[in-house]
Amino acid sequence: MIAKKDDYKFILEVLRKEALIYFEWYEHDYPICWRCRNRVIVRSPEQIFINVSSIKPKALLDIENVNFIPEAAKNAFINTVKSAPDWVISRQRYWGIPIPMWFDKNRHVKFVKNVKELEKLTGYKFKEIIIIVKFTDYTEKLLSRYFKENKIYYEGEINDINKLYDVFNKYEDKSIIIVNNFKYDILNQINDLYYVRTYGSRDYEIIYLYNCNLHRPYVDKFTFKCEKCGEEMRRIPDILDVWVDSGSATVATNTYPVDFITENYDQIKGWFYSLAMVGELYYNDIPYKNVYVGGYVLDVYGRKMSKSLGNVVSPYDIINKYGADAMRFYLGSIVEVYEDIKLKWEDIKVKYQVLNTLLNISTYLEEYSKYYNINPAKINVENLRWEDRYMLHFIEKSKKKYIMH
Ligand SMILES: [Zn+2]
Repeated sequence: MIAKKDDYKFILEVLRKEALIYFEWYEHDYPICWRCRNRVIVRSPEQIFINVSSIKPKALLDIENVNFIPEAAKNAFINTVKSAPDWVISRQRYWGIPIPMWFDKNRHVKFVKNVKELEKLTGYKFKEIIIIVKFTDYTEKLLSRYFKENKIYYEGEINDINKLYDVFNKYEDKSIIIVNNFKYDILNQINDLYYVRTYGSRDYEIIYLYNCNLHRPYVDKFTFKCEKCGEEMRRIPDILDVWVDSGSATVATNTYPVDFITENYDQIKGWFYSLAMVGELYYNDIPYKNVYVGGYVLDVYGRKMSKSLGNVVSPYDIINKYGADAMRFYLGSIVEVYEDIKLKWEDIKVKYQVLNTLLNISTYLEEYSKYYNINPAKINVENLRWEDRYMLHFIEKSKKKYIMH
């Protein structure tokens, strides 16, 4: 029977079994597909959760050691953690990081920790070759820092697809091949290899070459026998919630704890939270020490900037018109941390005029001191007139007062 289409058949079936107690029609809201507007059927598939309630007490203790600016953000964060439900980390999607969980028909579960373990279970030989395209002579120095444990080899150039396959087959797993010239077009001709380009810097570029792709659908082809019952184990088709990706930032970069992170207040329930929870699981601690929480730049009426409203102001619009210093001065002076900014062109103009006055004064001073051949920094204050000495005194006093803030 098909839901919605066979409703009457279903009701008749229930009637036949004399299981129907009461029946009536009534109107109610109903979910529809947001794209094709068809009615959808709400089902609850099995999901994987992080048991947040079990790590919450420890997380709440650890938050005490984290410094938030402002303090209000810390309170908001504490409330977020306090009221957080268990975290559904599985998604029934295609693009993303596949959950490394295999299971069989007896519901035995195997989490595969890494490629080495998958290799052992499947017998497949995984191989990764790291090609580094060298742009400057400084490259090798940089690389010796990042790839201490890899063997380094040299190839002059890789300019056709056969050469690329030769290189891949010739060297062992995790070898580093430094080349002076690489023809990037050949990457499009690759069929059975998988690559990831990482733009290193102006000194080099890294191309990771693999004989497999651990994303969907390729990863789903890997099956193995269950250690307990010998049945075939298959990967669950789910991928990870992307917040697990963002929450793994410190783990992935092997930096714990991080001294400083910053984002806007919407990330209190987002990134600050996901980092904290993954950190609690991995390090048994919150993986950052200081958090600066910013606000948003809104339009003059306090509306979010958006393409459809046509109210977007690019920072470059401001820089081109009034310069970077005026923008910095404006943003730094009008807003408290954690608050939104209502961007007003007139206010930026005022800041620009203030800066311009200062700039003119200094130019004036500079030009005249050149003209009279005087170094203003070396003037003997004792010889000045009393009103000049008063002004200098006033400036020094102001400097003391404001440097303290
Ligand atoms: Zn089994």
